[in-house]
Amino acid sequence: MRYAETGFNLEIDLSRGNIERVETDPRLTELHLGGLGTNAKILWDRVPPESEPFSLDNILAFSTGLLCGTPAPGANRTIVTTYSPQTLLMGYSMMGGFWAPELKYAGYDKVIFRGKSPNLIYVWINNDKVEIRDASHLRGKGAGETAEIIRQELNEPKAQVAAIGLAGENRVYMASVEQGRSSASRLGIGAVMGDKGIKAIVVRGTKDINLARPAEFIKLCNEVLQYIKAREEKPVPGVMPILAGLGSPAEMRLVDEEWHTQNFMWGNARERKRDYWNKEIEEKWKQTQETVRTRLISCYNCPMKCGALISVPGISTYMMKCFSKLTYTMAAFSDLDFGFRIAQRATEYGVDGFSTPQVMAFAVELKEAGILTDQDFAGCPSDNEGRFYWLLDRIVRREGIGDILANGTYWAAKQIGKGAEAYAHNNIKKHEQLPLKLGMLNPVYFLMYSTGEKINITQIEGQFPQAPFSTMEEREDFVKDWIQVPDEKFKKYLLDWEMRGERSNPYYPTVDMSVDIVDWQEMMHYIDDALGICAGLSAFPLKPPYHIHNYPTFISAATGIDMDEAGLKQVYKRNRNLLRAVNVRKGLRRAEEKPPEDHWKKRFPELEGKLLDAYYKFKGWDQQGIPTKETLQELDLAYVAEDLEKRGIIKNEQG
Ligand code: SF4
Repeated sequence: MRYAETGFNLEIDLSRGNIERVETDPRLTELHLGGLGTNAKILWDRVPPESEPFSLDNILAFSTGLLCGTPAPGANRTIVTTYSPQTLLMGYSMMGGFWAPELKYAGYDKVIFRGKSPNLIYVWINNDKVEIRDASHLRGKGAGETAEIIRQELNEPKAQVAAIGLAGENRVYMASVEQGRSSASRLGIGAVMGDKGIKAIVVRGTKDINLARPAEFIKLCNEVLQYIKAREEKPVPGVMPILAGLGSPAEMRLVDEEWHTQNFMWGNARERKRDYWNKEIEEKWKQTQETVRTRLISCYNCPMKCGALISVPGISTYMMKCFSKLTYTMAAFSDLDFGFRIAQRATEYGVDGFSTPQVMAFAVELKEAGILTDQDFAGCPSDNEGRFYWLLDRIVRREGIGDILANGTYWAAKQIGKGAEAYAHNNIKKHEQLPLKLGMLNPVYFLMYSTGEKINITQIEGQFPQAPFSTMEEREDFVKDWIQVPDEKFKKYLLDWEMRGERSNPYYPTVDMSVDIVDWQEMMHYIDDALGICAGLSAFPLKPPYHIHNYPTFISAATGIDMDEAGLKQVYKRNRNLLRAVNVRKGLRRAEEKPPEDHWKKRFPELEGKLLDAYYKFKGWDQQGIPTKETLQELDLAYVAEDLEKRGIIKNEQG
């Protein structure tokens, strides 16, 4: 019997209309757990690096994490992977909500698509019965509207629907997959779904998931729930409000946006408004938020309520969470009411709420600089908000200038020319980042930004505080119940970290300490993404309920696999290296491992070089960021080394 997982994947060949239920190899679970780990293995094994994101042989895999569908709190992530049209590397994006547990209850760990459907279709997974159905009547419909229509036509109000909007149908590089209470937004996953002709994947499942040692597992889950409760009653003092608690940053609960509005950048990530926040704005925004927020909501089996149902009079209800509350508002130099209104339209279109406002602000800036012309903006209203609505409509339809902007700032700037590339200043690995610009380089975040394979802000946040505490009392107070540290040395790193002087950024944490901290932070993200646990309860916040010391017992009790900390660290390293190898085979090298030039006001090229050198060495990679043969062999990835060698990547470049 298989425990925690179902042991079956659905393989769907869209070109041939063929559906297969395929038993999976349990050895792969021991090696990679599930989710991101086994998805990386599938991409490595089946899609050659020469394949383009929109080619027939690119694979789009929707995967549950290993613990999804078990009673583990927050085990609800769907990990979606493919080759990204934005970065041309492996793209992975995750969504919470309810979809992954439902797929498990239907009897599958993953749905793997290959080929392309000649017509727009949706897939209906109803336990053992799986159908490909015509979706021509859904063409052009919004993502939420699509879900409603499908639930009604199937008469299945409990079906979970992951759908694309118009943006995905038109292969917009910022297209998301929307799913009621969450979305997989980053890296153009929705564009690949649209290219394959899939409008939606609809799931209803009523089966059970087996656990190897249920009583022990339930006890562990109860401990986590108790910890969450205790931790919520004891926010971390001395850090900004959004980092004091657990979960995804509680933007839907909080009204005080002084920190974001004054520290993040407005427009095309250029302008800081130091004195923006005042009592009057706070009162106005509070009223706006409390009027449209009908209730706070959680993902499957989680008490945190990070999201909110937003209902603006006159337009249909949608879900919002985290910093997307402010992205449109700040990009358009507008106010919160506008942000809530345009986000509804953007969610129905199915676009990434981080990148899209930046692309629109970039277009406005190019127009102001005379690089885009009146002709490009023919018919566009002259007011800020009107311009944003107009641009959004053009982008998702790929009409006029929208056809170029739909490729994101990196590719659009290349197409536009005339100096536009200088305005696409906020990319890492061709992917638009949050409009965050800082003063002094922080060595830990330099490494996380530069080398992260997810290429997204949620992958760069972690369990080590982002800034030092000002007094020794605060530091001692923080470390005294810091049970999550993998090693006591991390407490010392924090105790010695000063705001100013020799032991402050950028030279402290030292190069070696920074590498240690990054490795810990990455490790937790990779484990979460293999297990399907929300990072909001593990890798992302300070002092979370899941950590390296209790994860092995969770995995063992759920699956029956004999897992200890050393074994789990080995799985993390294997998954990290496999993902790196997929991207190295796609051409990723050191030159691309850098944050935007203007991310920090003060840069330290020599130190940054040393940080990268040390990080690569620690990982067992060469100075181009390519895993060495020995590293791969130690991680049961000899077949990867062999392939890289055959392609001349290891021999030539490491030689
Ligand atoms: S912590 Fe928040 S985002 Fe994460 S599963 Fe819970 S409700 Fe969802």
